[in-house]
Order: sequence, then C-alpha cells, then structure tokens
Amino acid sequence: MSAIDGLPPLREVIARHGLSAQKRLGQNFLLDLNLTAKIARAAGDLTGCDVLEVGPGPGGLTRGLLAEGARRVVAVEKDARCLPALAEIAAAYPGRLTVLEGDALALDLSAHLAPPYKVVANLPYNVGTELLVRWLTPPAWPPQWQSLTLMFQREVAERIVARPGGKAYGRLAILAQWRAEARIVMTLPAEAFTPPPKVQSAVVQITALPEPRFPADPAVLSRVVAAGFNQRRKMLRASLRGLAPDIETRIEAAGLKPTARAEEISLDGFCALARELAR
Ligand code: SAM
Repeated sequence: MSAIDGLPPLREVIARHGLSAQKRLGQNFLLDLNLTAKIARAAGDLTGCDVLEVGPGPGGLTRGLLAEGARRVVAVEKDARCLPALAEIAAAYPGRLTVLEGDALALDLSAHLAPPYKVVANLPYNVGTELLVRWLTPPAWPPQWQSLTLMFQREVAERIVARPGGKAYGRLAILAQWRAEARIVMTLPAEAFTPPPKVQSAVVQITALPEPRFPADPAVLSRVVAAGFNQRRKMLRASLRGLAPDIETRIEAAGLKPTARAEEISLDGFCALARELAR
C-alpha cells in the first residue's frame, strides 16, 4: 500500500502489467506518489473540479489528482498496455475516473469535460508543445480550461515564461502570456523519472485571464509574431516586410523602431503592431 491511497506501489503495478517504458511514446514515469500529489496540489484546489490528464501511463499523477480530491479525472492514454492498471485505479475511486484510449491530438476532449476544467499532465515530450499551442489558441477566449499545470522539458518551460531580451523569448512566450499568467512552479531533476530523461524538467502553471492583457486580433497577432521570430536576427523592417507594403511606417505608427529585432519587442508592442496592421 502507498502513503497516499490504498493501492499498490507503482513499481509493483508496472512489473505486474509489464509496462516497460517506450521511448517513442515519451514514457518517463513518475513513481514517487508524494511527488505526484505535490504536482496535483500545484494546480490549486481540485475539489469540485473536472481535471483533464493527458498520458496517465501507469497512473502515478492520476492517483495524486484523485487523492487530492479532484471531482472527476478524464485521462487520455495512447498506450493500451496501461489500461488494466488504470482500470484498477478507477475501481478504487468509483465514478471519479474516466479513461479514454487514444491519441490526445485526435480526440475531441472537451466533449468529455464540464468547463471550466483544469488540465494537469506530465506530457509526452513529442506532443507537449503541439497540445499547449492548441490549448492557448481556442476559437474563443476565455477558454474552456481554467488552468494548465504541465510538465515540460525545462528548456521548453523557460520559453513559455520568458521575458523580452533573450534567446528563450519567442512565439510560445507571447501565446502563453498574452491571455494567461504563466510561471514555473517546480523544477525536477532527471532522476525523478523512470527511466531518467537526458534533461531536467519543470512544471509550468498557466492560468487563463478573463480577457487578453492588450487588445489584438488573434490571427493578425499570430502572423506578426510568426514572421518576427522566424527571422529573429533580422530587424523588424526586414522580417515583417511581407506583411504590408508600407511596413516601416506601420511599425513606427505602433510606437516601435523599424530597426528593432523581434526579441526586443514586448507583448504590448506586438499587440500594438497587430492592431496597426489590422486597421
Ligand atoms: N503520467 C505518467 C507519469 O507521470 O508517470 C506518464 C507520463 S509519460 C511522460 C507520457 C504518457 O503519455 C505516456 O503514458 C504515453 O504513453 C502517453 N502518450 C504519448 N503520446 C500520447 C498521445 N498522443 N496521446 C495520449 N497519450 C500519449
């Protein structure tokens, strides 16, 4: 029995169900249930909340979420080998765990959850960024999720919370910080995982704001940011040339210098430029 619930330790679950980690599925498991409960707590009060978990694997974080009081967890797992282990957890928490088998990128997950829900996941590294971009670019704002508590490789986590002026600052920082609050709440050494990955990891807490910090059309902002950072070493007047014939005048009208580079431009500056280009 583990310290957080009456279920067997994860090493035993993994051995009994033959869940050897597969690299192609980004499988680096967390086996310390005190740690998974701590990650669950980083998502705030879970009672009365639906939680979406992507990639439960053998269920360490799932058990943390349930032990911390989540009303209901909907967990999507691509690896069918994990389903019997997850069924044991579902039996221990009647009516509170729904497991969906499949690819999180292909399923319509919101159909299974009551908004506003929280997303908590130790994401597979190969689809983590794609999922994050999708969560940050829903058709309408505020989104159906209230917060995202996500484990990433540390380098990706640093890009999400980056401020202007450094190499880490780019599209992910703008997307995450325009309409949400993003911060790193925990860093984990590679040895916290089985098997250990090559790099450190970090948990990012992203909380949706009721509205964007600065007004801008999402599609125009996305085009400006993509063009600016695709050629990040170039001055704006060159990297944004394709966006308008009089781009230099437009950049100045937004209060920016045409000779500045994308990584020097604040979120406010990008939004001003998007508004100017949308006029
Ligand atoms: N949550 C577990 C933990 O913390 O120990 C496992 C995390 S492991 C980093 C990522 C999990 O995501 C694996 O169980 C893997 O099978 C699953 N996975 C990989 N690609 C997926 C996808 N496209 N959709 C759903 N699950 C996926």
